[in-house]
Amino acid sequence: MTIYNFCAGPAMLPIEVMQQAQAELVNWQNTGSSVMEISHRSKEFIKVYEDSIAALRALLSIPDNYSVLYMQGGGRGQFSAVPLNLRNENSADYFNTGSWSTSAVSEAKQFTSVTEHTITNQLDGKTAVMPMADWSVAAESAYVHYCPNETIEGIEIFETPKNIARPLQVPIIADMSSTILSRQIDIKDYDLIYAGAQKNIGPSGLAIVIIKNDLLARSKSTIPSLLNYQLTQQKQSMFNTPPTFAIYLAGKVFNWLLDQGGIAEIEKKNIVKAKKLYETIDNSDLYHNSIHPTNRSRMNVTFTLRNSELTERFVQQAELEGLKALKGHRSVGGIRASIYNAMPIEGVDALVSFMKNFERQGA
Ligand SMILES: *Cc1c(COP(=O)(O)O)cnc(C)c1O
Repeated sequence: MTIYNFCAGPAMLPIEVMQQAQAELVNWQNTGSSVMEISHRSKEFIKVYEDSIAALRALLSIPDNYSVLYMQGGGRGQFSAVPLNLRNENSADYFNTGSWSTSAVSEAKQFTSVTEHTITNQLDGKTAVMPMADWSVAAESAYVHYCPNETIEGIEIFETPKNIARPLQVPIIADMSSTILSRQIDIKDYDLIYAGAQKNIGPSGLAIVIIKNDLLARSKSTIPSLLNYQLTQQKQSMFNTPPTFAIYLAGKVFNWLLDQGGIAEIEKKNIVKAKKLYETIDNSDLYHNSIHPTNRSRMNVTFTLRNSELTERFVQQAELEGLKALKGHRSVGGIRASIYNAMPIEGVDALVSFMKNFERQGA
């Protein structure tokens, strides 16, 4: 039986990447060692690092005036790093769309003054995000922070932050942990993007930061070195020993994406995958999705059934058919199918036919 893993994170990685890593695990490039066992300062590893950055730059067309940093502490590490590096005498504007935005706010409040804006509302009985033109940013804001994809609720913002009405110099920061590399974006519309790796990039623990160079001067030397953007950039992400194996795997994932035809191609597949699931939900009497169609997440498809008993039965039967990790986040319940880049269309088809059968059985 083929197993399909719908875990929200750590999520499945492309099978081709896992097989390559397996084949070279104990004897990498005929060195007689694993890539895990060589110095991060060796020329072999520096090449792994440089190739991975080059692949990411190619995928996202990252302009020269942006730096790519590998950091540690995952997505949440950045909840601290952003305010620590970018705070100034002004309050930062945080736009809240759900659980991860809320966590980012509470962490930031430990280090700086925060103005929180709730930007979800009810539209036609569904949860929707207000258009960016209606977000209000203070004239003297330290920065704007928002989360383009709320992994837990399954809410995605497809608008570009160019549409946010704001004084020109206010930097835009986005937590893209669960949407990065799933669709085309214009890096120039952002000043800083960060992402924990375990959804669309590689193993957990690693974080990627794409930062416009003119923001680097904001980092003060009084903050923890490992969270300091300027220092990390100066040391090419090797102030301390970086997570070498995670960087190696991330590089393989980036190259896999390039082989797939890049972001434009993977985006087309992601649109098809999400559409199949939302259509199944909308055409059924059993499944219900509470997010307005304009903000339905392409990566995390959430839905509920009539009651928790039925939900439990759905999860258990799905497991028996090889459809794993469909239980919704413990804070919201229901079902969540995470369908990141690595999830093949066949996995979505298997879930769709399971959903139809489950409903037909008279659930
Ligand atoms: C998973 C996730 C995080 C947290 O990542 P960790 O690596 O567990 O710290 C933050 N933001 C979003 C949007 C996420 O999906």
